[in-house]
Amino acid sequence: MFDFGCADGSVTLLLDWGRTEAIERFAAHAAPAFHQAATGVGTQPGESCVECKAISRCTALPRTPQLWDGTPTVPARRRRSLSAWDLRLHAECPAQYHLVRQLHLNDLTEENDGARRGRAVDAWLNDRHAARPQRGCRDLPSPEESAIAAEFGLKAQQATEAARMLDAHKVLCPLNGTGAGEQVLVQHRVTAYIPELDVVVLAVPDLLSTYRGRWVWRETKTSSSPLWEGRSLLHSYPQLALAVLLFSAGALGSDPNRSWVELEHLREGRGDSRLERIDPGRPEIVAEAREVIAELAQPLLDDTTYEPTTGRHCHGCQARTWCAPGRAYTADHPRHPEPSRQAGITRSLHA
Ligand SMILES: [Zn+2]
Repeated sequence: MFDFGCADGSVTLLLDWGRTEAIERFAAHAAPAFHQAATGVGTQPGESCVECKAISRCTALPRTPQLWDGTPTVPARRRRSLSAWDLRLHAECPAQYHLVRQLHLNDLTEENDGARRGRAVDAWLNDRHAARPQRGCRDLPSPEESAIAAEFGLKAQQATEAARMLDAHKVLCPLNGTGAGEQVLVQHRVTAYIPELDVVVLAVPDLLSTYRGRWVWRETKTSSSPLWEGRSLLHSYPQLALAVLLFSAGALGSDPNRSWVELEHLREGRGDSRLERIDPGRPEIVAEAREVIAELAQPLLDDTTYEPTTGRHCHGCQARTWCAPGRAYTADHPRHPEPSRQAGITRSLHA
């Protein structure tokens, strides 16, 4: 079996098995999957709900009508999924959203250093938090920079920064002091259905956990810059707003008055990392979250043309290869370092 690159004509050998090995592998890997598909009866809400013909009778998918008071599109469109990532991409550039999220085009542009470092930190934390028996990171040994560099292909500088961020996480870890009976869900998919919009909402919190009966939704961000106070947290990070709405609508089956949404903002400087806590039980927080998501979601749901909007985001666009305005923009505006957002403003923070 070969993999052909349609863009560059490259050929990669994927597998070269003889008859005996093919039969053995089928028995080991494919047969159990066939058996599971033929006999499984469970439900697993997620991306597949978009195509599901039994959605009207499904009791496993939480209904969240009027999640942000969106207006149904006229004429009605086929069912769609919506995530915070979709909202961000569409707000930056409708064409980017259409090419990346609907047509699934990706020109395999290499990630920048910051993104690669963030991915390494996320992966390291996910591994730690998924370990059983569960335990907080406070008393675990700090990772070696060389181990991080080797595992995630980071340069020495990025590996140093990632190690410092992981060190900073140790005191902020939501699992510090959690008992054996608490629930810990790493990268757990949260799914909800908005019937009047025919939209499936998808979210994957970095970490969902309980603490003495409270549910905590933790999002972790890595950054070289301090938190910017020019906008509210919910406006800066719409995924927090979506988390507030999902808690508030009962999509997680928990009481919003006994839940927290948290942002862990990790930086490499000693003492610079922060933890922000948002209460989804407060009506004014829910109202702001609804406003944030409605402002982003309605233009996306109403869009039919997906016109490109060029800007700095073109430098990181995964679909720039197929976008003439994006290519022209990046040629005319070579990438400059991000301007510092340090304006002498830091939020009142607590760890
Ligand atoms: Zn931790």
